[in-house]
Amino acid sequence: MRYYILFGPPGAGKGTQAKQIVDKYNYLHISTGDLLRHEIEAGTELGKKAAELIERGDLVPDEVVVGMIRRKITDNPHIKGFLFDGFPRTIAQAETLDSMLNEFGGKVDAVISLTLEDKLVYDRILHRAMIENRKDDMDRATIEHRIATYHQKTEPLISYYKGKGNYREIEGNDTIEHVFANISRILDE
Ligand code: AMP
Repeated sequence: MRYYILFGPPGAGKGTQAKQIVDKYNYLHISTGDLLRHEIEAGTELGKKAAELIERGDLVPDEVVVGMIRRKITDNPHIKGFLFDGFPRTIAQAETLDSMLNEFGGKVDAVISLTLEDKLVYDRILHRAMIENRKDDMDRATIEHRIATYHQKTEPLISYYKGKGNYREIEGNDTIEHVFANISRILDE
């Protein structure tokens, strides 16, 4: 079983690339953001709690997302691999993921990191707001808070994974095709 993390700031192109990776490699794409948005649409208790945090641009509690990831992994024992998108987002999530994969006899095979400078992150999120109608994409203050949350809580994961030797960086400000070719090179190793 292979486990990959698609990493990067909001708007770096993770969702777009994930679709192509799934088409070519048949991995199961797990986006914690998508899972949380489904909970909100379904009106579940979890969704109600998450909605407020997401609309403010804050993270939902670690144990909530870790629980969703564990369920997805145990529900899908027969697939070739997993592609995590938007997870982990904190050091605590990354540590829990490591011990969870260890329990399942696996490890994070590679962290594929799409880089993008803040100015472009901001522009891309605003552009996506027009297409996807996401509440957390519409408002300037919320976007800025999401970018700040990324720097504060999620960016430290770069050193965490560099220390483990499985961190791979790709320039995100490139065409979809080029970025995908670079990702494919890593997945084909
Ligand atoms: P995304 O679609 O990945 O940008 O996620 C949208 C929002 O869902 C984020 O701004 C967070 O509020 C929440 N979220 C998604 N993934 C996580 C995670 N791994 N940990 C905490 N909150 C998350």
